[in-house]
Amino acid sequence: MKVEYTNGEITVVWQPKICHHSGNCVRNLNPVFDTGRVPWVDMNAASTDEIISVVNKCPSGALSIKQN
Ligand code: SF4
Repeated sequence: MKVEYTNGEITVVWQPKICHHSGNCVRNLNPVFDTGRVPWVDMNAASTDEIISVVNKCPSGALSIKQN
């Protein structure tokens, strides 16, 4: 299963089965990645560059970017 979130410029793809809940994304960019909220990703809470930077640090590859 893949879940997609977009801000119109980029789309973040999340694959929950791969995520090993290290929490890096939540710690590094909490306005965007907040597991206490539904949906847990808010693509309007930071700039595209900030989101790309944090997605690229996801250790499992559960988060990835698609350019729109
Ligand atoms: S950084 Fe990646 S592996 Fe860690 S919680 Fe976020 S999505 Fe899951």
